[in-house]
Amino acid sequence: MKDTLKHRGKRNLLANILIEKGIEDTKVIEAIKKVPRHLFLDSSFEDHAYQDKAFPIGAEQTISQPYTVAFQSQLLEVKQNDVILEIGTGSGYQTAVLLQLGARVYTIERQSQLFKKNKLFFPKMGIRPKKAILGDGYKGYPEEAPFDGIIVTAGAPIVPKPLLAQLKIGGRLVIPVGVEDQIMTLFVRKSELEFEKQEFGSFKFVPLLENKN
Ligand code: SAH
Repeated sequence: MKDTLKHRGKRNLLANILIEKGIEDTKVIEAIKKVPRHLFLDSSFEDHAYQDKAFPIGAEQTISQPYTVAFQSQLLEVKQNDVILEIGTGSGYQTAVLLQLGARVYTIERQSQLFKKNKLFFPKMGIRPKKAILGDGYKGYPEEAPFDGIIVTAGAPIVPKPLLAQLKIGGRLVIPVGVEDQIMTLFVRKSELEFEKQEFGSFKFVPLLENKN
């Protein structure tokens, strides 16, 4: 599969839908216009790639809905060269959007099947995270902490303490919290011990699972 003018046209239409739905950050919208989402899906879903929908990517996982990717990216307020930790690499689409926003990205996936697929897929696509890690996102990635931002792309039944601990002062954790549905939640680290918490709308994610492969 290739990226063609037709695909770019569809991405522009998708970007307009996201703007209508309330995404205001122009850098995020530009990133959505640039990343060829159809290449992150099985070719049989090509026609659906630019609808604002989640889709299966194997191993019972999904590529997040574009609106969700845009919403989380917007809350993260990525600045050039920010060091970002992503929990739940999945298809790598959100990873690619973060890189497009100028972030330096560490990304963790617990499913070895998806991790292995990305080992081949990322270089082919020119997607260059600082590191893609096979492991348990509940623990974060202490080796490279603290982070400017942490984004969790699976539904977390609880807020893992290590993730809060691995934020810089001023750093942002964007995490959907809940079991059936999730409330999009933003934590901003104000000081060593203080976190400001804000809640946004309700979303639906696959669960953040404990590492019991
Ligand atoms: N960002 C992805 C969304 C994938 S869905 C995308 O754009 O496609 C969420 C992903 O989180 C799944 O791939 C799932 O395997 C992974 N996941 C679930 N629990 C995890 C954990 N504890 N640590 C790391 N990844 C986890």
